[in-house]
Amino acid sequence: MEKHLKPYQYYSDLYDKYTVERCRNLEKIDNDIKLPEDKITKEKQQHFKKAFSKLHMYFETGEDYLGKSKRINEWMERDKKYDELYEQAKAPENITCLSCGRLMFVESKHLDFANNDKRDRVMFFYDCPLKHKPMRVFYDDGEEYRVKPHICPKCSSSFSEESKKEKDIIYITYTCSKCGFIEKTDLDLTIKEEKIDLDFIKDRNRFCLSEADGQKYMEAKVNIENLSKIMDKYKEKEKNKNLYDKVAKLKKLKIIELEKLLTPILESANYVKLQFQTPQVSKDVFVPFIVYDSKSERSEYDSKHNLQKLLKTKLEDTNWRLMSDGVNYRLGMLEWRLRAYEREEDLIKLIEDIK
Ligand SMILES: [Zn+2]
Ligand SMILES: [Zn+2]
Repeated sequence: MEKHLKPYQYYSDLYDKYTVERCRNLEKIDNDIKLPEDKITKEKQQHFKKAFSKLHMYFETGEDYLGKSKRINEWMERDKKYDELYEQAKAPENITCLSCGRLMFVESKHLDFANNDKRDRVMFFYDCPLKHKPMRVFYDDGEEYRVKPHICPKCSSSFSEESKKEKDIIYITYTCSKCGFIEKTDLDLTIKEEKIDLDFIKDRNRFCLSEADGQKYMEAKVNIENLSKIMDKYKEKEKNKNLYDKVAKLKKLKIIELEKLLTPILESANYVKLQFQTPQVSKDVFVPFIVYDSKSERSEYDSKHNLQKLLKTKLEDTNWRLMSDGVNYRLGMLEWRLRAYEREEDLIKLIEDIK
């Protein structure tokens, strides 16, 4: 049997053939695109189609060039595996003729490509030393391939078979041994000649890039990719620019300034005698404060809730936030903590939270 693995050039030519075929089809599709006729003249349409197709084919042929060696490697790997499988498969032993019981011998072997859930396997054809038919067929894993007997459709008896070869055609005649029914078939072994493709060389030159043109395409592609990366970075900066602008607009208040800002606001809402306590300074700065609710009818819940709402809105455009936990309420006295944001990344997070 002919080896599966062939020289590199075989695959290279095959790949080019596929490329030519594929690109011819694509060009045809491009040419068949329907453009709205009333909008532009026929002449302009042709011009547009040509320009589009040229650009389209530039990328298609370039990509085919780039994919070529990988695809050829895959093909060669596959065929190498077929050859290994074919060489290494062991024929099942002790196969005997079902007519005379004699030990059969391997007449030939063939690769059977994976179908259904089976792997690729090797089929062994066994012949009887006395030439009893039919031959027996086994896979390398021991499974028998059972040939269905060809029987007479009229009376279900077995056929006798006669064949003669004329030129490259085998004519087979089946005759029923019981009722004489005759069935004829033939096997055409003529090798179909490949159609002569006079345009192939011209199209191969158009579609299968030379080494030099392929390299040029690759460089152009890298440039386009780099350009798009630069564009992405630029867009990212633009997006962040808004963020940084907003951070810049935040009022960064010192502790005293904060106290000055809040005192009148709180008083107008009947929270009085605001006192800042000693700041707790670690990685971040927390400032505990005490304030008194002067509205006697206000409940504990309302007192806490209103203060929280008020501070939330009033601090929004500053770098300070009220802590969500740790509020103490005793006899109209509220004890809470404020937190300062100083680092740029923290300030950006603040802005993003507002959004
Ligand atoms: Zn036999
Ligand atoms: Zn019959």
